[in-house]
Amino acid sequence: MSAAAEAVTDALRELHTRFAGLRDGQLADYIPQLALAEPDAFRLALISMDGHRYSTGDADVPFTMQSVSKPFVYALALSVLGLDEVGRWVNAEPSGEAFNAISLEPATGRPDNAMVNAGAIVTTALIPDTPDAPGFDRILDCLSRFAGRQLDVDEQVYASEAVTGDRNRALAYLIRSAGPLPVDPVAAMETYFRQCALRVTTLDLAAMAATLAHGGVNPLTGVEVVPEPVAAQVLAVMATCGMYDASGDWLLRVGLPAKSGVSGGLIASGPARFGLATYSPLLDPTGTSVRGRAAFGALSERLGLHLMHNP
Ligand code: GLN
Repeated sequence: MSAAAEAVTDALRELHTRFAGLRDGQLADYIPQLALAEPDAFRLALISMDGHRYSTGDADVPFTMQSVSKPFVYALALSVLGLDEVGRWVNAEPSGEAFNAISLEPATGRPDNAMVNAGAIVTTALIPDTPDAPGFDRILDCLSRFAGRQLDVDEQVYASEAVTGDRNRALAYLIRSAGPLPVDPVAAMETYFRQCALRVTTLDLAAMAATLAHGGVNPLTGVEVVPEPVAAQVLAVMATCGMYDASGDWLLRVGLPAKSGVSGGLIASGPARFGLATYSPLLDPTGTSVRGRAAFGALSERLGLHLMHNP
């Protein structure tokens, strides 16, 4: 093992030991199936640009993507429609609000950005939906290429959110009333709930984050999933909006584009360097994994990963 590889392996192991005992935070319970998660689970994975995979904990155990799906569906929308067309429907400004805020720009009716639920619902609705290629199939195919393997839906988590997801449905109807959501809110929510219920492992998330860091080319498969400018655009929006109302503090302290999800998944990309992922389901009030946040902060400090850092 090279010295660099040893440093990464040691760092992941040490972070696991250091933060496994952290018991702050709550399981998400507004989606009942997510409240069944194992609170002690803690998994870390990192994938480098040459496709080396590092992990600790059970990095092959699946969980659902939830909001970690949002940057990848945004990437698909940007690849199909381009930045200007997507920007007509969803802005790219930090909202400073919670992920599920009932909030649209007063002047335009657009959501603030594609990382909050309102913006993610619009992004999902923008994916072309045709009989031969339904919108969800395009999302599944694209996100599978980001992961480097075929993903599938956790039907129980999907059903659980479909039963309880009225706040998101309300957002979809609000969007349609404020300025035309390009498709039917019922269809958009069906696709959005399925996308949130896509099943991934911690290593899959690291591969997805590494693909964004690697200019849109999956470092495990060599497949170009999205063009390089799109990967850069997505990372920019993750950097400014990916952690919702904690995005400024995250960029200040961790210094990496990142995205959290309420199942406990968390990713960060080091452009041209690595993709990093954690899974641990106890969440802070912004919906971010408590152990994940602690581990990313410590790793950034230890390995000098802050993008504004001048080594
Ligand atoms: N499916 C979840 C929701 O829409 C995703 C939210 C999240 O992970 N922050 O509420």
